[in-house]
Amino acid sequence: MISACHLYPDLLNLYGDRGNVIAFQKRCQWRNIPVQVINKSLGENMDFNKYDFVFLGGGSDREQNLIAADLMKRRDQFKEAVENGLVVLAICGGYQLLGRYYLTGDGRRIPGLDILDLYTRAGDTRLVGNAVIEMVQDGRRVKVVGFENHSGQTTLGKIKPLGKVLYGKGNNGRDGLEGARYKNVFCSYLHGPLLPKNARLTDYLIRLALRRRDVDLELKPLDDIFEERARAALLGRLGLKAN
Ligand code: GLN
Repeated sequence: MISACHLYPDLLNLYGDRGNVIAFQKRCQWRNIPVQVINKSLGENMDFNKYDFVFLGGGSDREQNLIAADLMKRRDQFKEAVENGLVVLAICGGYQLLGRYYLTGDGRRIPGLDILDLYTRAGDTRLVGNAVIEMVQDGRRVKVVGFENHSGQTTLGKIKPLGKVLYGKGNNGRDGLEGARYKNVFCSYLHGPLLPKNARLTDYLIRLALRRRDVDLELKPLDDIFEERARAALLGRLGLKAN
């Protein structure tokens, strides 16, 4: 049984981010892989060691501020689980919260969990639009499509990006990098939602979550014709080849 936790679904859920959890769950269920999804929010008991997959979505600065203190109380346990291979997908506001801090446009410093070596500062203009990155999944280079909308500009320290920007702005519009990757933690600015638009990435996360349970399973292929067509249509519109 894969245990998935959607953190703060009531507060962090911009641009359909919840679709990431639905895609993860459905692609398990379609293969008869048992999966349970637990929603956890402010003040509730959480045991990160019991989860295989944790999802944190995007939110406005206001919501991020509300969550920061609650998340901080769970920092050590969250970090320990990350070091032990917990699979995490964090989008936009959720991504920023895993870093050192987020300095908002009105000068507030929202503390992050400092699990990842990165920081974020609001820029003068929002970075908005379709985006495509190239990332490596199981040794293969794969294009990942999505949509970004953030004022925060993230700078990575000693940590790898999730991928290279092929189209769009990415972490800060300057260095050509997008997202962050540490162990099994995947961070990205891409909404979309990300996983329904990128079925292969979803399967990659499922395989990693299974490995956390010591199950090394070759996932049964699914009929992804609609997902692949949608992805190819967006890539084509942006002048990129579908691969
Ligand atoms: N509030 C953050 C920003 O604007 C995150 C936004 C988001 O999650 N889309 O950078």
